Amino acid sequence: GGPQILVSACLLGAPVRYDGRAQDLRAPLLDRWQAAGLVVPLCPELAGGLPVPRPPAEIEAGAQGWQVWLGQARLRDAEGGDPTAAFRAGAEAALALVRRHGLQIAVLKEGSPSCGSQRIASGHFDGTKRAGEGLTAALLRHHGVQVFSEHGLEAAEAARLALARR
Ligand code: SF4
Repeated sequence: GGPQILVSACLLGAPVRYDGRAQDLRAPLLDRWQAAGLVVPLCPELAGGLPVPRPPAEIEAGAQGWQVWLGQARLRDAEGGDPTAAFRAGAEAALALVRRHGLQIAVLKEGSPSCGSQRIASGHFDGTKRAGEGLTAALLRHHGVQVFSEHGLEAAEAARLALARR
């Protein structure tokens, strides 16, 4: 038992990424959390109604996830489409799930326009990243969730243990 953790579904091997692939970290800590029933998986983009595969999308250059949430910026996909509404719906679904399960910790895939917590794409579809956070990461943080990436599993575990001791 103990506090559960929201985890990006693609980090758990679910083939939900835009290109139909998974990340599948195979990290021992993730395996332990799963075995203990602590993992609540979600792909915000699927939850928001996007299909697999889908064209890659980026938050417009210079903007951050929270600005998209506030309606001050948009996303664009590689085919020129505007998937902003689906990304917003996905972030709302993540927040609803967090509330339903009382989650205070999330481990989200770095670099994604939804899940990225430190890095996001440039917005120019040039393969480069910049400092920033995606829409779901921003919304969850705003509501007090501690958001980590797959590079911060140990920190997430420390946060989980600290919560469990409360
Ligand atoms: Fe879904 Fe987030 Fe993984 Fe993208 S990074 S496939 S939105 S879980």
